[in-house]
Amino acid sequence: MKTIQNINFKNKRALIRVDFNVPLDENFNVTDATRIEAAKPTIIKILEDGGAVVLMSHLGRPKGVEEKYSLKHIVDKVSEIIGVDVKFVDDCIGEKVEKAASNLKMGEVLLLENLRFYAEETKGDEVFSEKLSKLGDVYVNDAFGTAHRAHASTTIVAKFFPENKCFGNLLAQEIISIKKVLEDSEKPVLAILGGAKVSSKITIIENILDKVDHLIIGGGMSFTFIKAQGGKIGNSICEDDKQELALEILEKAKAKGVQVHIPVDVVAADAFSNNANTQICDIDKIPDGWEGVDAGPKSIEMFDKIVMESKTILWNGPVGVFEMEKFAKGTIALGNSIAAATKKGTFSLVGGGDSVAAVKQFGFEHKVSYVSTGGGAMLESLEGKTLPGIEAILK
Ligand code: AMP
Repeated sequence: MKTIQNINFKNKRALIRVDFNVPLDENFNVTDATRIEAAKPTIIKILEDGGAVVLMSHLGRPKGVEEKYSLKHIVDKVSEIIGVDVKFVDDCIGEKVEKAASNLKMGEVLLLENLRFYAEETKGDEVFSEKLSKLGDVYVNDAFGTAHRAHASTTIVAKFFPENKCFGNLLAQEIISIKKVLEDSEKPVLAILGGAKVSSKITIIENILDKVDHLIIGGGMSFTFIKAQGGKIGNSICEDDKQELALEILEKAKAKGVQVHIPVDVVAADAFSNNANTQICDIDKIPDGWEGVDAGPKSIEMFDKIVMESKTILWNGPVGVFEMEKFAKGTIALGNSIAAATKKGTFSLVGGGDSVAAVKQFGFEHKVSYVSTGGGAMLESLEGKTLPGIEAILK
């Protein structure tokens, strides 16, 4: 794999696509700098080699030039995190920008204005990409969050650096983590899929059936499987038109020797609210007027046993309505089990959507092996797709 580790950046200008799409408050203060922190190792390695850095990113979804989406708002934060006074130029292509980039001394960092002030960015425009390519000697992609988009700065620009392009540290780590789960995995491999809907996870399930030994189907998704098998699910969330599909998945899993585990009991609530009355019941005997909102105690124990026996774990999607404190127990217990297995040497990857939020909220972030930084990019990787941003570097 072509990474920054294989290149000596002495006297070179690196054009780095980073993902600085960070949340800002009403006074334009950065409220969560995780993404800037995540890009730091790549930037520091290049500066320490004796190179210079040109940073390009998008911020939000501006329609043309919109001051509130200017990257000038984050210059101080980036400077503080990297420990270098970052220069800023209020455009991302053109003569002024080329001059600012070529005037950079080694050890210096320049941040460009929001790429999406130009519609050409998301269109993947070639002329725009070529203009961007004039700003560096080496192209580095370190933005996993946008690697599934064939945009100018994430994909098309790479063709203007046929010999001089590589992955940054963050993107390399994401690729290695996904590989560890889907390709070079130590057995037994367990995938835990939760969340609300079967329909949003179906492509992932189909792709991973060839790669895993165990599959836990939890959360709201499980009720479609239970109903399809003749169970009574009360008012629980269910996709009636996906029942057939659920049965097909179970058949396919059986044929491939994958053991599927669906919760056996649930916390049922008489309303979708933190103040609801609750009772524990078997997942296939939920009374009318009640809905399953969290994993029950027997299911939590079952999850723990499978997790502790696994050597590789992928977790995507919560196993209950974790946003409500009363229904977060199952998701927290599962997080604890995965943390314990990780401590024993199991590789655990948390990726895609709400399980990342849950892991951060409940403090498991540093107790699992890797938490992915990309929502859509992670989901598409798990679906078995090659991401354009990754392919462009490998080509
Ligand atoms: P996803 O984005 O597909 O991972 O879905 C995450 C959402 O699934 C979260 O907002 C959870 O509240 C929701 N969820 C998990 N379990 C249930 C359940 N039993 N009933 C309703 N929603 C659920």
